[in-house]
Amino acid sequence: MNLKNALTCLLVINLLSCSPLPHKSNATAAIKNVILVIGDGMGPQQVGLLLAYARQAPHSIIKNRSTAFDRLMHNGQLSISLTHSADSLVTDSAASATQLATGHLARPEMIGIDQYGNAQENIISKAKRLGKATGLVSDTRITHATPAAFAAHQAHRSMESEIAADLLQAEPDVMLSAGLSYWLPESVNHTAYQQHLNGLAKNLKSKRHDQKDLLSAAKNKGYTLAFNKQQLQQAQGKTLGLFADTSMVNGISEAQQQDNPLRQQPTLQEMTQQALSILEKNDQGFFLMVEAGQIDWAGHQNDTGLLLHEMLRINATLNTLLDWLKGREDTLLIVTADHETGGFGFSYSADKLEKPMSLSGDAFVNKHLFQAQFNFGSIDILDRLHQQKLSYKDMFTRFDALPKHHQTAKELVNIINSHTEFPITEQQAKTILRTEANPFYTQNHKVLGSKIVPKMSVNGAFFPYQADNRANLLAQAVATQQQTVWATGTHTSTPVYAFIQGPELALQPFKKILHHTDLGNLAIQALKP
Ligand code: MG
Ligand code: ZN
Repeated sequence: MNLKNALTCLLVINLLSCSPLPHKSNATAAIKNVILVIGDGMGPQQVGLLLAYARQAPHSIIKNRSTAFDRLMHNGQLSISLTHSADSLVTDSAASATQLATGHLARPEMIGIDQYGNAQENIISKAKRLGKATGLVSDTRITHATPAAFAAHQAHRSMESEIAADLLQAEPDVMLSAGLSYWLPESVNHTAYQQHLNGLAKNLKSKRHDQKDLLSAAKNKGYTLAFNKQQLQQAQGKTLGLFADTSMVNGISEAQQQDNPLRQQPTLQEMTQQALSILEKNDQGFFLMVEAGQIDWAGHQNDTGLLLHEMLRINATLNTLLDWLKGREDTLLIVTADHETGGFGFSYSADKLEKPMSLSGDAFVNKHLFQAQFNFGSIDILDRLHQQKLSYKDMFTRFDALPKHHQTAKELVNIINSHTEFPITEQQAKTILRTEANPFYTQNHKVLGSKIVPKMSVNGAFFPYQADNRANLLAQAVATQQQTVWATGTHTSTPVYAFIQGPELALQPFKKILHHTDLGNLAIQALKP
């Protein structure tokens, strides 16, 4: 045994035997707060896109070309985790979040119940049992699958009215997201309903099918209601923030509106900051889940420019969390994804082969030129992706808003070519607009129920969100220009990263190939009185 090993042993013996060392005898017992960040759909390739942009983009906006993931690597532990749900190869967000929240296997599309259908205690209810504060933050909506699985117990993720009621019953101290329409009684669709809304001027719509007024119920439970950024910043104590009807803005819009003094919606970073400042007031500590949920939406649409902006959004949010964590030894931070979305990657191709170039090295003396056989992708693609001005989905919304006789290939070219740096031709626009009889038509199916759908050229079964498939076709049209491939319009089973930060001893249990039920159980076990 060398001296270093001997010293390590001494240190370990001291730690284990409750010696009078100033350090805690059991590091996990010292953990007061647990923070779980979920990048929905953020597989290794999505993290890779951010890292490529940070390191290689000629005009990267990332300071010092260093990301929050660099900070996580510097301070903590990197593990990988398998995400599959019970008896399935692939998972969805509901099952994956249920597995993280309860430590139990679930089946796809279940919320907070195990694979047999039994409600299981989640990390929020354990934290509350221990007297800790709890919070849920998401840039999708609060009743959407990921946040829902941390507080609700329902047979299916689509039961958002029931989920809203469950969320209120679970009573996390902080809930910040969108989804106002699931909190309003159905009568709001017929009558004026402004008494709670502090002057929030908008056309309110309820998506409920009952008269439950969950906003009044929340007020009666002592929640402060917030409907815009300013109200959020003033909120103290228990806070329910609902900042849009159905979803927060996407990452491109958030970035564009960031400096607009009239901006109403808080950013994911601002919601996270406010959640921390409310939750940290509890002396017993807290559990906080933050979701960057639109990484997944960009992935489903195969929208690479939007994906980059969503990764910049989680990067900013993680930096805020890491600033708060600086110097703290009492908090466990877990940053992971629920699954990968899209089967995304940069790829080299046979298109536009690179020109021969002269290089100064010894291998190229005597006028030998260097030439790779294929096109390995120019780094300025990263800047051009960042310059995208509208999401694919928003571009098609604009197209569909045109009078029917203006909905032509030419008009689609105009819209797309004025909002991205990857122009398409009229011929490509025609391909995007082609339709066919739905090969997967399923009567009364919420997603597969249309008789006529966009015509996919390959692998149509993996593009089941047919209403959005023109976006996926657009992705295929610009694939060679963007040097990107997208394998699917759904999720893949790729193992995801789990970045763990906390006291050194608390990292030990994470040093293996995990499954998300392990990750959930370790997070739950880390919560101590
Ligand atoms: Mg989600
Ligand atoms: Zn998804």
